Amino acid sequence: MIPSFRFHISTSCGMARTGVISTPRGEIRTPAFMPVGTAGTVKAMMPDSVRATGADILLGNTYHLMLRPGAERVARLGGLHRFMNWERPILTDSGGFQVMSLSSLRKLTEEGVTFRSHYDGSRHKLTPERSMEIQRLLGSDIVMCFDECPALPATEAEVAKSMQLSMRWAQRSRDAFGDRPGHALFGIMQGGVTRDLREESAQALRAIGFDGYAVGGLAVGEGQAAMFGVLDYAPGFLPEDKPRYLMGVGKPDDIVGAVERGIDMMDCVLPSRSGRTGQGWTRRGSVNIRNARHADDPRPLDEACTCPACRNYSRAYLHHVVRSGEIIGSMLLTWHNLHYFQELMQGLRDAITAGRLPQFVADFHALRAEGDIEPL
Ligand SMILES: [Zn+2]
Repeated sequence: MIPSFRFHISTSCGMARTGVISTPRGEIRTPAFMPVGTAGTVKAMMPDSVRATGADILLGNTYHLMLRPGAERVARLGGLHRFMNWERPILTDSGGFQVMSLSSLRKLTEEGVTFRSHYDGSRHKLTPERSMEIQRLLGSDIVMCFDECPALPATEAEVAKSMQLSMRWAQRSRDAFGDRPGHALFGIMQGGVTRDLREESAQALRAIGFDGYAVGGLAVGEGQAAMFGVLDYAPGFLPEDKPRYLMGVGKPDDIVGAVERGIDMMDCVLPSRSGRTGQGWTRRGSVNIRNARHADDPRPLDEACTCPACRNYSRAYLHHVVRSGEIIGSMLLTWHNLHYFQELMQGLRDAITAGRLPQFVADFHALRAEGDIEPL
């Protein structure tokens, strides 16, 4: 018998909770941060290295993988886990968000979206049924419903209309997903920053029934205050015993605020993307390693960090390789950033378990407020 998908909450602290999602491919400790492996790779990292930072699960992008190399091809080659050499859990998004943000000549109908690829202009169609099929072909462990995220700025009426379409697509996603033991399907709550719409969306999703629930339509430019405003109530509309996933978040202080408000899972390109542009994230905030002040600095990026970039290299070296465009610069800073994000998640999990989350959060903000170490 295939082990089922389960979520066990071990401790709560206010709205925050810590626990474990069990899947046939391994356990996911929550709150969890998922590095983004857009095109079948977390850029500049080997899978073993990603795991060494503490990641239990990766995110793959349906939109990118369906266009290149193609979902049917990945399936023929044994599925995404084997293709990219990551045997642990993978969550795939539905493709809906990236169709809206990346493709051109989109046409949205009740049935789905037709669009042209941003790679080569070829024509494609995504529907709830096709998105479920692609995510099944990839072999995703956690599948996301196909939804529409309205482009901002949008009026409340536009957000309502879009949310209601997404709820009809959620039902079609559920029907198309079928019964797949060991695999999970998550619904996605929409409704912008309007409380009534968020509640209506949550009720529609609960009536359909999902293995987990995402809060969608945030981190799209509304700002942290507006996002936290929604997170002050939205998680409470969702079932308490199912994972809650905040899509596309975020910066370390976004993550901490979301966990405080009851979020269990998050994903963001930030640690890997900024690692490729010379930006390091530390307990004291962000550091631009390209800055001339680091050129003669023999100290590590963060003396408390145990990642290879901090253990074996100076700020001066990181500065040099990043400024020189050397590949190892992207590798080291990405590793450091992913390590820092996972260490932050472990700190949050430990603090919730110990019942001292408020103290952890206060210390987190206090250290960041000090800023980076003084130049030599
Ligand atoms: Zn480090």
